[in-house]
Order: sequence, then structure tokens, then C-alpha cells
Amino acid sequence: MSNVCERCEKLDADVGKLRHYQNYEVDKLLCQNCIKEIDDYYSLKCSKCDKPAHLRGNLIEYQNEKICTICMDEIRLKEN
Ligand SMILES: [Zn+2]
Ligand SMILES: [Zn+2]
Repeated sequence: MSNVCERCEKLDADVGKLRHYQNYEVDKLLCQNCIKEIDDYYSLKCSKCDKPAHLRGNLIEYQNEKICTICMDEIRLKEN
């Protein structure tokens, strides 16, 4: 019997053992790749305000730093 990753829909035969993942309001049977992607995504932080990126929209590359859209807006306001 084979299981399918609920995110990328690959078979565990292809992507390895699936794990029941319950973090960050995710509750799914996932493969290691998807788990890593989700962990990476939620561990990203804005290098300016230090808030988790997923709460602040996407991160933007600005002067070699990854910052959130809200900090980016503040910078743009100050520049004008
Ligand atoms: Zn997957
Ligand atoms: Zn920020």
C-alpha cells in the first residue's frame, strides 16, 4: 500500500517516507521535501523588524537583506 503526499501529490515510493505534519496550522501527510519547504518558509524572518515573513507578506531583497513588504514601504516613504 502506498501513500501520497498531500502537498506535492507524489508517492512515498518516489519521495520517501511520509510524515504526519502538524505545525503552523498545517495538518497533513507530507514528504520530507514538503516538510522542509514549509519549515523554511515559516522560519524566514524580515531582517529589519525580525517578524516572521509569512505574517508580513513576501520578503523583498533590498541592499542584500531580505525585508518584508511593510518595512519596504517604510523605507520607500523615507526616501521620498
Ligand atoms: Zn510532498
Ligand atoms: Zn519587516
